[in-house]
Amino acid sequence: MSDTVASRVPAYVHSLSPYQPGKPVSELARETGIPESKIIKLASNENPFGMSPKAKAAAVAALEEGARYPDGNAFELKTVLARKYGVGMEQLVIGNGSNDVLEIATHAFLSPGTSAVFAQYSFAVYPLATIARGARCIQVKAKNYGHDLDAMLQAIDQVTRIVFIANPNNPTGTFLPGNEIEAFLAHVPQDVLVVLDEAYTEFLPAEARYDSIAWVARFPNLLVSRTLCKAYGLAGLRLGYGVTHPEVADLMNRVRQPFNASNVAQAAAVAALEDQGFVETVAENNRLGMAQLTEAFAKLGLEWIPSFGNFVTVRVGDAVRVDQSLLAQGVIVRPIGGYGMPEWLRVSVGLPEENARFIAALRQALA
Ligand SMILES: *Cc1c(COP(=O)(O)O)cnc(C)c1O
Repeated sequence: MSDTVASRVPAYVHSLSPYQPGKPVSELARETGIPESKIIKLASNENPFGMSPKAKAAAVAALEEGARYPDGNAFELKTVLARKYGVGMEQLVIGNGSNDVLEIATHAFLSPGTSAVFAQYSFAVYPLATIARGARCIQVKAKNYGHDLDAMLQAIDQVTRIVFIANPNNPTGTFLPGNEIEAFLAHVPQDVLVVLDEAYTEFLPAEARYDSIAWVARFPNLLVSRTLCKAYGLAGLRLGYGVTHPEVADLMNRVRQPFNASNVAQAAAVAALEDQGFVETVAENNRLGMAQLTEAFAKLGLEWIPSFGNFVTVRVGDAVRVDQSLLAQGVIVRPIGGYGMPEWLRVSVGLPEENARFIAALRQALA
């Protein structure tokens, strides 16, 4: 290789492929000539209701202070979160989305020579963030498209510093009962950080819920990661948080960007967390929409993976071809060939009329 700047970049950076996001509505409009208003996007597990009107009002008001740096310590937001969960402010890490929380954890705990353990068919950011630190990925074979906790425990080696668990999992929507995660935590070596990524926890039915935040007091190597970007609808503003032992939070706060969460996102988050009624409406719509989608899959004779998130993964055969047909009809969903599931599409639950349009387009695509 010649002496270019690129030639000096570590091989692990060259080995990365960028995260593949859902296709933006504006892009499909440009490509097909379909007006944006006629396109539906069910590709990125976004909130079909947008954000709570109270959150939006707070965000708009916060724009007034947009020329000032935000509170880098997020005092008001941390106060609300600490009260909500009965934890200390020193146990909190605020992120520019929970993606940032995951990244910050890898910055603090991974380096070349270390490893991270995660499941096959789990969130794409785990390998991305691990490889970007020069650390090794230990990917553990999935069990029924979800996490095999026994195998993950076995996979932890001398240099493992992080285990990632997404519960519910993305892109498959599988779920592990709380008691299984609690038993797992009791067996993980104390010097391995368990990142419990609960981006979809607000969508869980009451009977599936468990109190992971309460475990933080017992397991100083646990980081619970949550987000305002899914059920609370702040995906574009970006706001996530981690709850963990004060020592872990302190280390993470040293490596994060000082102003990683904008003043607009922080203000919206404070208002959103205080509007639980909105989240309940969102979760109820999700339950109904999930039934609408899976009943249609059953009628079409399609296999799907029962999901605990705000999306469902369905087996359509040649997913690239079906996806092309859906796009031509103005419907954006997510092919997950990049996750090693080339026959499957992941579709986010939308509003009833969006789900109906997707179902009609899917029927057409399969005909
Ligand atoms: C969407 C998602 C996230 C991150 O979302 P943010 O928008 O960065 O908060 C994290 N983990 C999983 C499993 C997700 O699906």
